[in-house]
Amino acid sequence: MSDPLQSFRLDGKVAIITGASSGIGEQTAKLFSSVGATVVAAARRADRLEKLSAETTNVVACACDVTSDADCENLVQTTLEQFGRIDVLVNNAGISDPIAAIDEDLEEFRRVIQVDLISCFYLAQLSAKIMKEQDSGGSIINVASIHGFVGSAPNNQPGYSAAKGGLVNLTRELALEWARFGIRVNALAPGYVATELTDEMIAGDSGRKWIERNTPLRRPAAVHELNGAMLLLASDAGSYITGETIAVDGGWLAR
Ligand code: NAD
Repeated sequence: MSDPLQSFRLDGKVAIITGASSGIGEQTAKLFSSVGATVVAAARRADRLEKLSAETTNVVACACDVTSDADCENLVQTTLEQFGRIDVLVNNAGISDPIAAIDEDLEEFRRVIQVDLISCFYLAQLSAKIMKEQDSGGSIINVASIHGFVGSAPNNQPGYSAAKGGLVNLTRELALEWARFGIRVNALAPGYVATELTDEMIAGDSGRKWIERNTPLRRPAAVHELNGAMLLLASDAGSYITGETIAVDGGWLAR
């Protein structure tokens, strides 16, 4: 039997990762680079991307605000011009709206839906148009959340929960529509992960204790604990997985 770990490698593959300037996106850029991929790291904070690019093999920076249609188009076009293909798209950029639904401004709700759902759709569509012309298709990974399956209150995030729920079912829809093009579309549903998004919550006593109380493994995840699922979905090791959302949540959704 040939080495089964070989199928997890991404040699020669080209991957776009959004929100790569910190947290899960930055970790994923380093992960993909370490198994042979060329990575186009996209985010708004160009200085952070340049640092990541300077420190990591085969990672190039592309400034991109995913709420700008023109930036999304530029990201996909630049990747194609520079590397000739797109094998993996990780829709990871995301924001939350920590506010009670009764008090939320409609503009804030719209903003979260735009970043966490609409931009993911547009980048998936732009990438799929390239992937469908390739012999080897492609893999799209949407970073959703446990709050795509269950509400987040009392850690209120109405727009976030709505967007992530939409992203989970969009994942199923795109998987069905694009299977015939050899494009797999899957999602990850992390539980609480220690990143800039959760900094304040985890640093505060009550927030951290709430996470510990509600997570069967009794702690938030470290960012590297998403590596296994991310690589499975991105690589040929996951070649028969599509339309699926994999929870990496310390048991949250099993309760
Ligand atoms: P993070 O804040 O470190 O990363 C989010 C990234 O998205 C940042 O790089 C940010 O700059 C980028 N971003 C935000 N708006 C953007 C925009 N308009 N254009 C381009 N980039 C933009 O937090 P993270 O935890 O690494 O979050 C990554 C993803 O994981 C998000 O989609 C988040 O919802 C999801 N997630 C996180 C957790 C958690 O507990 N940390 C849990 C479940 C899901």
